[in-house]
Amino acid sequence: MAPFYRDTWVEVQLDHIYENVKSMREYLPVETHIMAVVKANAYGHGAFQVAKTALQAGASFLAVAFLDEALSLRKKGINVRILVLGAIRHEDAILAAEHDITVTVYQKEWLLRALKNHSFRKKLRIHLKVDTGMGRLGIKEFTELNEIIELIQHEENIDIDGVYTHFATADEVNTDYFDRQYGTFLEALAILNAHQVDIPHIHCGNSAAGLRFPTKVFNVVRMGIAMYGLSPSEEINGLLPFTLKEAFSLHSRLIHVKKLQPGDKVSYGATYTAEEEEWIGTIPVGYADGWIRRLKNREVIVEGQRVPIIGRICMDQFMVKLPGPMELGSKVTLIGSQGNEVIPIDEIARELETINYEIPCMISFRVPRIYIQSDQIVEVENHLN
Ligand SMILES: *Cc1c(COP(=O)(O)O)cnc(C)c1O
Repeated sequence: MAPFYRDTWVEVQLDHIYENVKSMREYLPVETHIMAVVKANAYGHGAFQVAKTALQAGASFLAVAFLDEALSLRKKGINVRILVLGAIRHEDAILAAEHDITVTVYQKEWLLRALKNHSFRKKLRIHLKVDTGMGRLGIKEFTELNEIIELIQHEENIDIDGVYTHFATADEVNTDYFDRQYGTFLEALAILNAHQVDIPHIHCGNSAAGLRFPTKVFNVVRMGIAMYGLSPSEEINGLLPFTLKEAFSLHSRLIHVKKLQPGDKVSYGATYTAEEEEWIGTIPVGYADGWIRRLKNREVIVEGQRVPIIGRICMDQFMVKLPGPMELGSKVTLIGSQGNEVIPIDEIARELETINYEIPCMISFRVPRIYIQSDQIVEVENHLN
């Protein structure tokens, strides 16, 4: 348990992560694996804890965006297969192979460069990535796909374990573009088939596609946002096959409570003026914690009631207007529930005109994470230790 000495923390309900993965496990066909996507410190929740929980709940593999993230999990003792979804440097292919990390091959040039190095002591396990319309990473031309396959077939240092693609619109109700991408993926699979390479893992589903088309997404689903209990988009909320449970909440405490006189001002720019005798509270969270200045019109929950933020949010603190004098040290909830009130992540995302994905990612490493299982604190992580 890492100690921390500030009155602000994130709570991660590991039970909820467990239940979300379990629900997906029960929902998908038995032969379909779950690949738990724990990139970006598990969308801000904590990669190691989420990875362990997801694996206990029935996930088979992990995915991250960068090689560093995969190495960090290996260092902590995670030994299941980890796929790096993003690009790694070709000169780091050796390092990936040594740590048994699966890499994405998305370009012939990258593969040629990676293979120039002849000091592979272990095979490099790869998944081919086909760009069927996301326009990001992946092999776009079928001629290039053919060339890569021919190259790989004569290459003893490569173990081709998977092929995949990524949808741009799986979270939209209209499936026209999705269907087009899906069709292109089928064509790519036919090409691979013609070469008679046996590729054990085929995948195209993120959370949205896995939830909506469980029998169309081949034998692996890359589960990200739904594992954290969040809907891939507001528009498909009504299409979700099971309840998702949010795992992330953000809390702090009132560290200063005082009375303002009419005319008194609050925070930088002195933009807030008290109109009468008012009680305000100071909360030790600021934009350096990811509680950005644009959240200035939000409310937070204190003693079970919503109170408005007043004045500008500072780097490390902000102020709220209280209904009256309140106890120093009172718990303040910025995201999540307290008493009968709740501030869901979607509410904050809506206000910031962004997607729910961005909100937990935004809460910075300066805020310690407390992991809760069966109402008990099972771990505390403080990146400042
Ligand atoms: C992040 C990511 C995912 C996870 O997507 P969710 O919508 O969070 O389920 C899946 N596949 C790729 C390639 C990704 O980059």
